[in-house]
Amino acid sequence: MNIKYLPYHLIGTLVLLEILSIISTDSMWPWGIVSHESLALRIVGWILIVQLCFGLLFCLVLRMVPDRPCPICYKDLKSFISVYGAPCICPKCRTIFHDKCFKSKPRCPVCYPDTDAEADIPLDFRSEFLPD
Ligand SMILES: [Zn+2]
Ligand SMILES: [Zn+2]
Repeated sequence: MNIKYLPYHLIGTLVLLEILSIISTDSMWPWGIVSHESLALRIVGWILIVQLCFGLLFCLVLRMVPDRPCPICYKDLKSFISVYGAPCICPKCRTIFHDKCFKSKPRCPVCYPDTDAEADIPLDFRSEFLPD
């Protein structure tokens, strides 16, 4: 499922639940469905409510993920969840990565930076030619 459509999915589920509730129990509250005498309606009601709860829970988790890029692929943590996997956190440095990005590395790149990258110090000779 694409993250972008999650809010629409949630609203859709809620509307469906409301319509079912009003039609079958004449009430705005969906609790009537889950105790309705019709078994089919109870099952549908439960499925919708469970979907809604999971969706809301997922939204809450997403809200806790900061708006910043993944340090491995440099793409936004939230927008690329469907491509690079759910956010996962390094237990040592508490940096958040995409699950697939983190698993593609043998070690956490923040805790263990590549030594090659460290040796590559950019040299700036221009300062010597600056006018006094
Ligand atoms: Zn990533
Ligand atoms: Zn780390």
